[in-house]
Amino acid sequence: MALSADKIDEHVVWQDVTEGLQIHEPATSKGFMTGQWRTNTPVWNKEKCKQCLLCVPYCPDSCIIAKNNKRDEFDYDHCKGCGICVKACPFGAIEMKEGQ
Ligand code: SF4
Ligand code: SF4
Repeated sequence: MALSADKIDEHVVWQDVTEGLQIHEPATSKGFMTGQWRTNTPVWNKEKCKQCLLCVPYCPDSCIIAKNNKRDEFDYDHCKGCGICVKACPFGAIEMKEGQ
């Protein structure tokens, strides 16, 4: 019987993982801190931000949270630092800085 994704770690033998490492459960990405891969980090300038929300749907990892029609801080646990949001912002309110 193959293990669920949250039970797989460095101690699991190959016979217990799914064939081809397929994932059969939904929403497993929540448990993986993909932000740890990041080499560059977006920084939000609240003074320049016009709350147009254009950056929100552009983020491929849903790391820009919008509540009550306003964007909030980045979800740095999952942001991979791709920089797409920087290009999406028409007001220059997001800049990339080097490192985490
Ligand atoms: S850098 Fe990429 S992953 Fe991070 S918030 Fe911007 S678009 Fe999303
Ligand atoms: S695209 Fe730029 S101005 Fe618009 S909400 Fe995002 S950071 Fe703010």
